[in-house]
Amino acid sequence: MTVCQECKIPVTTIPTVLEYQGEEIYLFDPIVCQPCLHKLCERYSTQCANCGGIIPPFSQVGVLKGNNGQKQFVHMTTSCTTVGSAFYGY
Ligand SMILES: [Zn+2]
Ligand SMILES: [Zn+2]
Repeated sequence: MTVCQECKIPVTTIPTVLEYQGEEIYLFDPIVCQPCLHKLCERYSTQCANCGGIIPPFSQVGVLKGNNGQKQFVHMTTSCTTVGSAFYGY
């Protein structure tokens, strides 16, 4: 049987699907239940350097190097990369 890694309750549907701040998250690995995934999102989500939206954990992101060596994250979704693209018409 499949159980949540966090709280050990049985998880019946894989992947765990959660909508968080308008982002759809599909989580295959690690296996956590929906409430735990929501908690993880609140704890670990970060901000997109491009559109300013929320990037939940376990989602695909692009990583940019900031000026002072800081990492910046951007969505890998087309809806994000087209918003405010600085490279259009280059
Ligand atoms: Zn859980
Ligand atoms: Zn974004």
